[in-house]
Amino acid sequence: MESQVLGFIGLGHMGGPMASRLMDAGHSLCVFDTNADALRPLVARGATAGTSPKDVASTAPIVLMSLPTPNIVQAVALGEGGIIHGAGARMLIDLSTTGPGMATVVARGVNERGIVWVDAPVSGGMAGAKAGTLAVMVSCPKGSLDQAEPILKTFGRIFYTGEKPGLAQTAKLANNLLAAAALVVSSEALAMGVKAGLDPRVLLDIINAGSGRNSATQDKFPRSILPGTFDFGFATGLSYKDVRLCVDEAEAMGVPMVVGSAVRQMLAVTQAKFGAASDFTCIAKVIEEWAGVQIRG
Ligand code: NAD
Repeated sequence: MESQVLGFIGLGHMGGPMASRLMDAGHSLCVFDTNADALRPLVARGATAGTSPKDVASTAPIVLMSLPTPNIVQAVALGEGGIIHGAGARMLIDLSTTGPGMATVVARGVNERGIVWVDAPVSGGMAGAKAGTLAVMVSCPKGSLDQAEPILKTFGRIFYTGEKPGLAQTAKLANNLLAAAALVVSSEALAMGVKAGLDPRVLLDIINAGSGRNSATQDKFPRSILPGTFDFGFATGLSYKDVRLCVDEAEAMGVPMVVGSAVRQMLAVTQAKFGAASDFTCIAKVIEEWAGVQIRG
């Protein structure tokens, strides 16, 4: 792939390692984040620090962003000092989980300024971002895919969903509903087993060799819950945002989400108890408290 100057806004748990992979691939980066600590490792590697999204968009023809919430995505793209006010941007790639509603609004706003909008939400966590093994869901005009593809391949495997803005976001919400549901219901199953006297590691081994295995039992429990570290790298507030967006979108389309609504409430409780910045594996702690047992053994 030809090396180019790329803009990157939002260098947190996901954006930091993804930006780093772009530098590994030989690209020059102009980066921006409201948190100076997030910028430091990239600047130390030779990235230029922009002063605003507008500044980044004046330097780089292609800008990527990995931001926490739909409102922040909207402000960074369309707001005062936002990307649309930059002189050079021709393509804006959104790696955030923004939801299809806001993606459609922002796509329209940037298109009016002649900027191509590419939805590219990702799945696979911080470990996948570091290793370049993410699932990258893409919706954008077919004619722009060739330009976006070599960049997005740096992050993992690409799944093109179609041209309609927000389509890839819908795929992402479906995936994240399942990831959160797996965590909730696996915590319930583990709490029951441990309270009955099963060793949590033995029970996890059984589930992972059987038909109950899922992303929580295979990854989140062994990595962040059983060791008691609660450091998977995905904030409760962001998971709550994803499931809320998912249930709201589904209801607006006439798709009932009975279990999805229960998962949303579990995230609301976890956020009320541990805060939006807590790791979403803290869901297990809520269930531990209700069950009167420590899953961690
Ligand atoms: P994060 O909070 O770790 O990172 C977001 C970064 O954006 C932070 O460094 C923050 O300072 C910066 N930021 C906030 N407001 C800003 C603004 N106005 N201008 C510039 N920078 C700003 O979040 P994350 O976990 O990296 O997630 C980023 C996005 O990716 C979210 O939409 C999330 O839902 C999604 N996502 C996260 C994961 C995960 O496992 N963490 C996995 C897949 C997708």
